[in-house]
Amino acid sequence: MNPYTIFADIIAGRAPASVVYDDPDVLAFLDIRPVTPGHLLVVPKVVARNLAELDPALGGKLFQVGQRLAAALRSSEVGCDGVNFFLADGVTAGQEVFHVHLHVIPRTPGDGFGLRARATSPPRADLDYLAGSIRGALTRG
Ligand code: AMP
Repeated sequence: MNPYTIFADIIAGRAPASVVYDDPDVLAFLDIRPVTPGHLLVVPKVVARNLAELDPALGGKLFQVGQRLAAALRSSEVGCDGVNFFLADGVTAGQEVFHVHLHVIPRTPGDGFGLRARATSPPRADLDYLAGSIRGALTRG
């Protein structure tokens, strides 16, 4: 797969971005099509197309920067009451730009943002079965 994305150009300074945070590992900027005002993207500077390619330490740093940005959003003029983190990993999950990024989405009452989902209530035995399967996968690494 072609590793080029628009985020690589933004990180290299070849494409414009409204930057809110910059350090040697991580860049954060406003989403060009915000779902709410102040919607941010936090991206690692090294290319990782998906979670499997992302150094876990860097993944931790994305979350840390996201935490700081969430606090900043609350006290900035964005003035939100809440924040959602969202990360799409894979086409089926809605990923469109194949350079890992954490969405930091400021929330205010009635802002219209929401995830569509159909929650179910499976029996405990089904939950336990899947828990065992996932534990097994973790053990196999
Ligand atoms: P995802 O669906 O999780 O891959 O999200 C990709 C996000 O990148 C979308 O919310 C886009 O609006 C955003 N995006 C795409 N191009 C740009 C850009 N040049 N600057 C800022 N955000 C962008």
